Amino acid sequence: MEFLATSLLELITQTSTNLPPDVRAAMSLAAGAETPGTQSSQALDIILSNIDMAVDDEGPICQDTGMPTFIIHTPVGVNQIRIRKAILDAVAEATRLGKLRPNSVDSITGKNSGNNLGEETPVFHFEQWEEDEIEIKLILKGGGCENKNIQYSVPCNLEHLGRADRNLEGVKKCILHAVWQAQGQGCSPGALGVCIGSDRAHGYELAKQQLFRTLDDVNPNPVLAKLESEIMDEANKLGVGAMGFGGKASLIGCKIGAANRLPASFFVSVAYDCWAFRRLGVRLDAATGAITRWLYRDPARKVERMARGEGFALTGREVILTPPLTEAQMRALKVGDVVLINGDMFMGRDNVHSYLMKNPPPVDLNGAVLYHCGPVMLKDASGRWTVKAAGPTTSIREEPYEADVIKRYGVRAVIGKGGMGAKTLAAMKEFGAVYLNAIGGAAQYYARTVEEVPGVYLLEFGIPEAMWHLRVKGFAAIVTMDAHGNSLHADVEKTTGEALEALQKA
Ligand code: SF4
Repeated sequence: MEFLATSLLELITQTSTNLPPDVRAAMSLAAGAETPGTQSSQALDIILSNIDMAVDDEGPICQDTGMPTFIIHTPVGVNQIRIRKAILDAVAEATRLGKLRPNSVDSITGKNSGNNLGEETPVFHFEQWEEDEIEIKLILKGGGCENKNIQYSVPCNLEHLGRADRNLEGVKKCILHAVWQAQGQGCSPGALGVCIGSDRAHGYELAKQQLFRTLDDVNPNPVLAKLESEIMDEANKLGVGAMGFGGKASLIGCKIGAANRLPASFFVSVAYDCWAFRRLGVRLDAATGAITRWLYRDPARKVERMARGEGFALTGREVILTPPLTEAQMRALKVGDVVLINGDMFMGRDNVHSYLMKNPPPVDLNGAVLYHCGPVMLKDASGRWTVKAAGPTTSIREEPYEADVIKRYGVRAVIGKGGMGAKTLAAMKEFGAVYLNAIGGAAQYYARTVEEVPGVYLLEFGIPEAMWHLRVKGFAAIVTMDAHGNSLHADVEKTTGEALEALQKA
C-alpha cells in the first residue's frame, strides 16, 4: 500500500479545491438562466470566478470544508483498520496544508482539535464488496447548508403549503418547503438529496447518499424521475435566487430515493447542499493503494473555466467605505447598494459573539466592520498569518447577540451571508448600522482582497472562531439590510412564500 497516503491526500485536495464537472455544468446552466445585471447574477459572477481561483491556487473553494464523510468499499480480505488509519493521517495532513479547515470541535469542552480529528470525526462508512479494487468516495458539506437539512414527519402542516399528506403530493410539498426554508442561508443555488421513508436516523443518511449521484443522471425509477424533474422546475420558479437575493437560480439538482418505512412512520428527509457541492471519489489498486481511476471527474480532461468576465464587474456606482464608519455614512446607504470596503475589519462569529456578551471587546469596535467568517489561516515561513480562504458564514446564528453588539460597542457594519432577523434590523435602524451580504462560499475571491493580517485575538477559541484583524482592499458586498428598517431577506422570504402558495393553487 505504498501509494495509499498520496492517493488519499490527492482525493481530499481535489475534493476541496476542484468542483466536479457535473456541478460546474449545473452552475453554468444556472448562471445562464439568471437575468443579467441582477444581484443574483452578480453573486453568480463572483461564485464562478471563485471556482476558477480555487483550482488555480489549489485552495479550498469554500473556507468551510465541512465534516469530511468517507464512503469506503473494500474487497473481502482488505484490512479496513489500516485504511481508516491512513485516512486519519491524510485528513490531518490536508488540514496542516490548509486544504481543510480545522473543523472538529469537542462538543463538551468547545475545544477545536486543530487537525480535524476527534470523536466521530471524520465520518466513515465502510462496506465490503465483491470487486477487486477499493473505492473511496468523499463529500465535504459545510455547516451553513448542513444546518438547512430538514426532516418532515407526514402528515404535517407546512407554512404556505397547508397539509402534506402521506402520498407523493405530500412529499413534493415537503421538498418544495425545504427549498423555501433554506432561502440563501445554505448558499443557494443548492442541490437536494432526499429520502422518502426509512426511520429518522437512517433517513437522513440515505438522503445524504443521494448526493453521491451525479446531478445530470436520471433516476431509474420513473416515478421518482418525474418527481425530481417537477421539483427542479417548480423550485426554480419560487424566486429565491443565488444567495437568496431573489432570482431564477435556486436549485441545481434534486436527487430522490425511497426506502421502506414502518407503518406508523412516514419521514421525508432532505439533505441540502450548497453550490459548493464538493464530492469526488477514487478507485484504488488494492495491493498498492494507487489511484486507478477517478469518479466524477476525468483528470485527463482540461478543467473548464467558469468565470464570465472579471468576476465582479464594477459599475462605478459602488460606495467606497473606509472604516471607521460613521452613523451618517450608514444612514446614507440603502438596500441594493454595492459597497467596496478598503481598510480594517474584524472577524467574529459564534464564540466571539458569546464572549462579547460578558466581556469587553479586545479591540475598539466603534465604527467597525464585523465580519462573520471562520477562515482558513496558515502561518508562512516568516511566522506571519496568511489567509487561505475567507468567505462569509451564516449570520442568523448571531441573531440572539448582534443587536447588543451594535448597541454596546458601536459596530456600524456587519458582514455575513443569509441575512439577520427582526431584532438586529431594529437595532440597525435605531443606532445607524447596516448588514452587508458577502457572497457565500466565495472563499478564494475574498481571501484575495486581504492585504494584511495585522493581528489576532481570542485565538484560544481555535482558528475558525478567533477574532482576526484584517486589512482589505476592494472587499465587495451588497447592502441587504439598511438603517431604515428595510431587509431584502424579509422581502424575498415573503415573495417566495407567496410563490409557494400560487404553485399550490395552480
Ligand atoms: S458555500 Fe456556503 S453553505 Fe456551502 S460550505 Fe461554504 S459557507 Fe457553507
